[in-house]
Amino acid sequence: MRSLLKQYWGYESFLPIQEEAVNAILHRQDSLVILPTGGGKSLCYQLPVLRMGGTAVVISPLLSLMKDQVDTLRNLGISSGFLNSTLSDKERSETIRKLRAGEFQLLYMAPERFTGPDFFDLLRQCNIAYFVIDEAHCISQWGHDFRAAYRELGQLRAQLPDVSIHAFTATATPPVRDDIIHELNLSNYRLMIGDFERPNLLYRVQYRSNLQKQLSEIISRHPKEGGIVYCISRKDVDSTYESLKKQGHSVLPYHAGLTANQREANQEAFLTEQVDIVVATVAFGMGIDRSNIRYVIHTGMPKSVEHYQQEAGRAGRDRLEAECVLLYSGADVMKWREIMGKPQTATDHAALDKLFEMSNYAQRVTCRHKFLVEYFGQPYAKANCGRCDSCLGEFESLPDCVTLAQKILSCVYRVGEKFGATHVASVLHGSKREKILQFQHDRLSTFGLLAEYRQDDIQQWIDQLINQGFLLRDPEYGALRLTLAGGQLLKTREGEVLLSKPVEREKKERAERSRKRSTSAGSEAADWTDLDGELFEALRQCRLTLAKANRVAPFIVFGDVTLREMVDLKPVTLAAFRELKGVGERKLAEFCPHFLTVVQAHCAINGIEGKTATSGKSGKRGFDQDLTADWPEMQASDHNPKSARANQSKTLAFALFDQRESLNFVAARTGKAFSTVTNYLCAYIQQHQLTDVAPWLSEDTYQSVSQVVSQLGAERLQPIFQALNGAVSYDEIHIALAFHANRSVAYALS
Ligand code: ADP
Ligand code: ZN
Repeated sequence: MRSLLKQYWGYESFLPIQEEAVNAILHRQDSLVILPTGGGKSLCYQLPVLRMGGTAVVISPLLSLMKDQVDTLRNLGISSGFLNSTLSDKERSETIRKLRAGEFQLLYMAPERFTGPDFFDLLRQCNIAYFVIDEAHCISQWGHDFRAAYRELGQLRAQLPDVSIHAFTATATPPVRDDIIHELNLSNYRLMIGDFERPNLLYRVQYRSNLQKQLSEIISRHPKEGGIVYCISRKDVDSTYESLKKQGHSVLPYHAGLTANQREANQEAFLTEQVDIVVATVAFGMGIDRSNIRYVIHTGMPKSVEHYQQEAGRAGRDRLEAECVLLYSGADVMKWREIMGKPQTATDHAALDKLFEMSNYAQRVTCRHKFLVEYFGQPYAKANCGRCDSCLGEFESLPDCVTLAQKILSCVYRVGEKFGATHVASVLHGSKREKILQFQHDRLSTFGLLAEYRQDDIQQWIDQLINQGFLLRDPEYGALRLTLAGGQLLKTREGEVLLSKPVEREKKERAERSRKRSTSAGSEAADWTDLDGELFEALRQCRLTLAKANRVAPFIVFGDVTLREMVDLKPVTLAAFRELKGVGERKLAEFCPHFLTVVQAHCAINGIEGKTATSGKSGKRGFDQDLTADWPEMQASDHNPKSARANQSKTLAFALFDQRESLNFVAARTGKAFSTVTNYLCAYIQQHQLTDVAPWLSEDTYQSVSQVVSQLGAERLQPIFQALNGAVSYDEIHIALAFHANRSVAYALS
């Protein structure tokens, strides 16, 4: 199994639970696997079929994800397809034909397809290895995405009793779990529950004081990285989007008020990394498979911890570090209560409890990881996670909280318990606002009592006092009142109260520096040099180009994990690429030659010695030699089935070159990597003895290469590349040399 893992996915070892989950499938024992987002669920059910043969049928609720999954599998060299309402009649019957013929290793299907006896008859005629129910919580009304069609899946067991069923979800609550088991009629099943900690996520909560400024600050920590900014209302989406756009960010909006086309286009732009930031309502997210989202910001508090976990959890699916920031204010609770209305049924009350739990998360300054893990029913043992604002020491509790609390409570009392938090805070701060003068609150003994603090801080403490049960906020008007405990504290100083505020910026930066030095737990963020950043950017561009040519999302070409490995290890042979995390055989052949030229160029320009493989021959080999030795496509011999396919692509490429199509286009049409297509082109140029460089090269580029070649000769690409200071890519040099040979011949003959 490990060899399959390496061969197809390029991973050395399984993540927790994966191996057990794979084994359950291999033993045809029903199973329910609960793993958090980013836990590696898909691999659990994609791998076994490679060993077992037949077709694994995967039921998945989201059409957009199906396509991504199928694209991903195709790029791993695993045959797969999908069956859903987006197919034309013709595509549908072709897919069914292939299914019958056993041509798919995996087939994705929408649950809606599981109707009618004909369909089950069809399945019985096929060699079905096992069923997978992805996002299995959709079957439960207790889950947050109930889908009626999922209930039909209950028939699977009766209709095909011999085929094992494997359910996967990230939602762990016991009622949902029981529903899944019951509804799917799982028998003698294995239950596997992963660790719900997401150590790569850095959680922060900030009091929302100056939204635009706070957003800019967070976003500036993630230049050119993917991020989502969630807003509660459409109106907020629009205004936040406008202001970010004005600041020059690469950003798009997303909410239900846009047309379906606009929404799809904006989502696509984000998935394909044409845009960095999406400002959205929670309507955005279900279909988001982009693995390298580096931050998620909530500009308002969600209505439950479950929602928060799900939305924030979209960050860092690739297991690399990512940041989740919640910007909240006490007013958010009021806003939600307004939306929810007066609680009447038990469900309403349950919803209200969930809201309070969420505000608890926002207000408390204890470890966020601990809070979340325990909220979802798992114990948390670490004393300091090193990955949240509390553990990083970004908050400090204030000395003499009782006196401070008394001052605030007293002010609430003096304004007659008729005013909201903003007003009370400005009285304490000593502001001369009109409303204060109008009510003569500047004459109160509490006026200006906390003048030395910022009004935002005071307002935040009011929220903390509400949360700790000393103050009540009128749900309708927002006026603050003392609770019994509040009255008691005011009078007798009795009661336990804890008030805190964010650490001043300089202190925070100091803490941040020490955190970086100690390279805290869970974070793989090594300190990068500028050069590394440059290489990463070059690799990212290469990934974008390949993604475009292959019409897939960039993360399908390679995840950030693999790109970072390229940066860290700087592989300069294909053998060394093979050792990277995430490089399986197929991607090695398809994509790595192209990344190889980028790394080689970087190393050559900067005088860095890159990495050759640890296994196999040691020592640095030259580029030209390596090109033919390691390039699988070029080595393909006649009895290699791969070579038949390669020949087909080559024939197609030649036909397209006849029409003078661009390299981009040919790469897209043949589904081949650029470097491969470049090789085809060079062969083509040679075969047809072409001397006219258009449309593949500009005459200028050709001339500059040609000039260098007349001095250095054309034996090795690397010196030519260096002499041109990296201004001309290896691919272009390659092409120029092909023309050069022909022109020399033409010159000699003339
Ligand atoms: P989920 O569906 O549970 O959210 P994914 O299947 O998207 O998780 O996997 C999350 C990330 O982990 C992906 O980037 C995937 O490539 C990576 N991954 C999966 N299995 C392994 C493994 N054995 N070793 C390293 N990375 C893995
Ligand atoms: Zn913590």
